[in-house]
Amino acid sequence: MVKIKMATPLVEMDGDEMARILWQLIKDTLIHPYIDLKTEYYDLGLLNRNKTQDQVTVDSAMAAKKHGVAVKCATITPNKQRMEEYPELTELWKSPNATIRSILDGTVFRAPIAIDQIEPAVKSWKKPVTIARHAYGDIYKASEMIASEPGECHMTFRGSSGAEQTMLVQKTDGPAVFLGQHNTDRSIRNFARSCFEYAASSRQSLWFSAKDTISKVYDGHFKTVFDEEYLSYKERFENLGIEYFYTLIDDAVARVVRSEGGFIWALKNYDGDVMSDMIGSAFGSLAMMTSVLVSPDGKYEFEAAHGTVTRHYYRHLKGERTSTNPIAMVFAWTGALKKRGELDGLPDLTGFAARLEDACFETLGSGVMTSDLAALVRPGFSARAVDSQQFIEDVAMRV
Ligand code: NAP
Ligand code: MG
Repeated sequence: MVKIKMATPLVEMDGDEMARILWQLIKDTLIHPYIDLKTEYYDLGLLNRNKTQDQVTVDSAMAAKKHGVAVKCATITPNKQRMEEYPELTELWKSPNATIRSILDGTVFRAPIAIDQIEPAVKSWKKPVTIARHAYGDIYKASEMIASEPGECHMTFRGSSGAEQTMLVQKTDGPAVFLGQHNTDRSIRNFARSCFEYAASSRQSLWFSAKDTISKVYDGHFKTVFDEEYLSYKERFENLGIEYFYTLIDDAVARVVRSEGGFIWALKNYDGDVMSDMIGSAFGSLAMMTSVLVSPDGKYEFEAAHGTVTRHYYRHLKGERTSTNPIAMVFAWTGALKKRGELDGLPDLTGFAARLEDACFETLGSGVMTSDLAALVRPGFSARAVDSQQFIEDVAMRV
């Protein structure tokens, strides 16, 4: 068989534990036999990040900026417990995703992979709901204060020009708590652009919701920025037959549960944190959530939303064959290959990625799946739980 040729390399970011084991298995069984794979490889495994003083993470993000499309395996974000597990660690290295996000300056889009065999908790959902979560500021970068006596709290801004603005937050008649939070115009604008960019490239309508009736200035500014940025996308949206609208978050929640899905829901940082867990679990399983970071200038980094699946890795090390679900990782690869094919004008590459996704759906449709999914199928559908390797081989038979 003639293998499909690529033009520009994909930036490949390898990772840790069970995800790393599956990564290799996916490449060997589902990619290499069909594609003359061109990648620029970066090993973001914890030990190599430690060895390179985390330079490899920075280099991989710079490469993603240069080539435009990256595919990433889940990585360990070390904590104290990991220091004991890996005594050679010289530092508690930062989350690679945070480092990559700060270099690409993007927005994270998370979408469940919906399948017929698993009924979403919301009966009307026929297509996935994609969450676009703003990844900077608000309560995630806030200052908090507790006061034990009555008094007055003020908020002061001192401009670099020397000009000052002060306002009373609240006069309190007893002990109280206070919170000061911010966002930057630049970050909000980049968030808006990434959302419009992604909506256009995936041909889905965009909803944005916040609470500007209560937070007239803060949330009001988010709404204004979205309106302003939309002006340069309006024509493209109309040509694609998709729409953009803003609505209050409580109205959006009510509409989402009555909708058929198939749109992008843009949310502020905290709202996105909460709603993505709701959407993910309502569609079935965390192992079926894909995630893509899109920068405001249109660079893409694809990954699975789940982590390195540590518990399965320890069973794997003991020689057990685990039933770890590889689907979100396969879809990270197909997402990246499709995007590369689209950008380089290689319909064979895009076509292969679509065929591989279909092969996954057909395999699940035949009842063959990993045990996490077998436990969730709708009544009357008979599923056979297999281990990861068997599942991947079954998919390969259908490509
Ligand atoms: P996790 O790796 O997502 O796993 C949590 C649990 O969810 C697993 O123990 C497993 O449950 C289930 N699960 C997740 N993915 C699955 C899959 N593909 N197939 C079957 N079951 C799956 O989260 P974690 O245990 O909190 O984190 C482990 C490591 O991953 C941490 O070091 C963390 O820093 C890292 N992490 C990385 C990323 C990233 O790179 N994007 C994201 C999150 C976490 P059962 O054990 O019950 O089967
Ligand atoms: Mg959360």
